[in-house]
Amino acid sequence: MHAIGIDIGGTKIAGALVSENGEIIAEDRQPTPAGDAAHIVDIVSSMITRLQAGHEVVAAGVAAAGFVDAGQSTVYYAPNIDWRNEPLQRYISERVSLPITVDNDANAAGWAEFRFGAGRLLTDMTMLTIGTGVGGAIVTQGRLFRGGFGAGAELGHLRVVPDGLPCGCGARGCIEQYGSGRALLRMANGIADAGGIGLALADARSRHGELNGTIVGEMIAAGDPGAVNALQELGRWLGQACASLAAVLDPQVFVFGGGVSVAGDLLLDPIRESFLQHLPARGYHPEPGFVIAELVNDAGVVGAADLARIHAGRR
Ligand SMILES: [Zn+2]
Repeated sequence: MHAIGIDIGGTKIAGALVSENGEIIAEDRQPTPAGDAAHIVDIVSSMITRLQAGHEVVAAGVAAAGFVDAGQSTVYYAPNIDWRNEPLQRYISERVSLPITVDNDANAAGWAEFRFGAGRLLTDMTMLTIGTGVGGAIVTQGRLFRGGFGAGAELGHLRVVPDGLPCGCGARGCIEQYGSGRALLRMANGIADAGGIGLALADARSRHGELNGTIVGEMIAAGDPGAVNALQELGRWLGQACASLAAVLDPQVFVFGGGVSVAGDLLLDPIRESFLQHLPARGYHPEPGFVIAELVNDAGVVGAADLARIHAGRR
């Protein structure tokens, strides 16, 4: 039977009616009224009701960026939306006639990748989403890992540099400051400042006023040595983080999603190389795979729907 997945992002709310095989039957999207929590509940509730009309639906899952409790009902804290201990599951349940569950958006996207994408033939997968920040999801022995309080798998805040760069989370030296899209821009600017292979980056910066993800992404795709160098630096940091993660989690595969992952092998090669350099018991440790995510834009809604179906006991 179908389930509904809703992904509340910083700029848009995406919703979809999803089959048991992860296929999208119908979809909808609306702008996110950031800062207006009550209006978000209105939009999500009416989106669920519209997607449900005329179909047999078993449950609806709502994914959002933030800490969600282990009971999948309350958002402790959402950085982009003004939610502090928001009982989202109860608010939406009062307005729709379906069981509702709430999940972290990175967990939902990772779960979709595990069920229907790059991890579908495996039991243990670690996913890193390289967007503006670094998100993560962990699947162990076929189950999504949430931690004891529901706030686990925040892989972006794994510390890679003691007393390193300050992070938005309040700590220092998190991989998010060395392995994210924002870090890639910082590295590209550094290479532009240094001249040499950075001349084309410096030139693009002066033409456009500043470097952004699109410009640097295009220069990477075109093989510009400065831009590729910045990506390799990013990959080396991520490979180091993966070595630490492998020591704890021992995944069969690391999956990379998010905007920066469109670089493909140009990103994976330095990650794999640095991973092998930093891997504990190197040479004896079985090597995991390193792959790019397969479900790109739909992962959040597909994963949220599937997690809701599981929570409702219908799979
Ligand atoms: Zn952090």
